Amino acid sequence: QRVLVTGANGFVALWVVRVLLEQGFTVRGTVRSESKGRHLDELFGSYGDKFEWVVVEDIVKEGAFDEAVKGVHAIEHTAAPISSTSDDPDGESSFVRLSSNNVNNGLLEYLKPSVEGTLSILRSALKFGTDIKRVVVTSSLAAVMRTVTEPPVIFDEDDWADEFVDTLKREGRKASEQVKYFASKTLAERAVFTFYDAHKSQINWDVATVLPPVVLGPTLQDVKKSSDLTGSPNLWYQKVVKDQDDDPLNTTPFYPYVDVRDLAAAHVNALTKEAAGGKRLLICAGSIGWQDTRDIVYSLRPDLYESGVLPRGKPDSKTSILWDYNGEKAKSILGLEYRDIKHIALDMITDFERRG
Ligand code: NDP
Repeated sequence: QRVLVTGANGFVALWVVRVLLEQGFTVRGTVRSESKGRHLDELFGSYGDKFEWVVVEDIVKEGAFDEAVKGVHAIEHTAAPISSTSDDPDGESSFVRLSSNNVNNGLLEYLKPSVEGTLSILRSALKFGTDIKRVVVTSSLAAVMRTVTEPPVIFDEDDWADEFVDTLKREGRKASEQVKYFASKTLAERAVFTFYDAHKSQINWDVATVLPPVVLGPTLQDVKKSSDLTGSPNLWYQKVVKDQDDDPLNTTPFYPYVDVRDLAAAHVNALTKEAAGGKRLLICAGSIGWQDTRDIVYSLRPDLYESGVLPRGKPDSKTSILWDYNGEKAKSILGLEYRDIKHIALDMITDFERRG
C-alpha cells in the first residue's frame, strides 16, 4: 500500500513517514525543494524503493498534486504553515480573496496555503486518485477552541473554533498571528468535510481529520542546534530551557500535549482503522503547566539545574488547567495509548543534549 505524505520534511510528517515505513507501507513524500528532499534520503534511504520523494513547489497551484496522487492508496496531508517564522512569503500572513461560490460558502477572506492547499490535494485526489481509500488531513486543537470566559471547559470533537474565523473576518490582516493560525486550521478542516459531502457520490475514498495539541518529543529535522528548531519543539525549548517568565510572553501558563511518535501512530491508524472514516480525531495525552513541566524535568534531571543549565522558574507553584481536551473517543477508535509527560520531557531533554 502506497501512502502520499505532504510536507514530508516537517516535524510531524517525518515521524509519520518513519512509522509508515516501519509498518511496511510504501511512502511518497512531497517537499517544496530538492534540498529538503536530500535530508529525507539520509533518513530513509535504507528503505530503498519503499520510499521516494517528489517536489511540489507550490501546493496552492491548481493541479499541484495531480501527479503526486497517482498510484497512491491513501494520503496524509500534513503540510501547512504553523508559524510566521516560516520563510514562505506566501505564508500565514497572506490572504486571498475568493468568490462567494467557493466551498466555504461566503467566507470572503482566508489563509491561502492551509485552505487552498488542502482543497488542491482533495481536487487532485478527486481527479486522479482512483486507488485512494482514505485521505487524512492534519488539523489542530486550534480548530476546536473558543475563548474561555467561565472555566473550566473541556473541549471535544463537537467543538469548532468558528469564533476565530469571525475575528479574522472582522480584523482582517490586523488579526493576531494566533487568530490567523486558528482560523486557518478551522477553515481548512471545514473545507475537508464540505468537499467530501459535495463529492462523496463521485469518489471511493473517505476522509478523517487528526487534531493534535502541542506536539513534543524527539525531532528528526535537519537542524544543527536545538535553539534553531522551529514550531512546537521550539516553543517547549523557549519555555523550559530558556530562563524567562511565563507572563511577559503573554501565553497561557499551561498547554495540551502529545508525543510526536504517538501522533504519528495516530495518523497511521487513522488510515487503517475503518471506524476512523468521516471522523475528527482529537489527539491529546494531557495538559500541564509550564512550571509543572520545569518541576518534572527537575525531578528527572537535577544535575542540569545544579550546573545552572536549566532555569527553575518558580518551583512548585502549581498551575490551574482552565480548559482541557477530551481525547478519549479518538484513543479508543485508534486503539492507542500515549506517552506521559515525564517520558516525553526526558526524551526532549536528551534530544536537546544530543543536538547541543
Ligand atoms: P513543520 O513546520 O515542522 O512542518 C510543516 C510542513 O508544512 C513543512 O513540510 C513545510 O514545508 C510545509 N509548509 C509550511 N508552509 C507551507 C506552505 N505555505 N506551502 C506548502 N507547504 C508548507 O510543522 P509541524 O510538523 O509541527 O506541523 C505539521 C502539521 O501539524 C501542520 O498541519 C500543523 O498545523 C499541524 N499541527 C502541528 C502542531 C504542533 O504542535 N507542531 C499542533 C497542531 C497541529 P517547508 O519546510 O518547505 O516550509
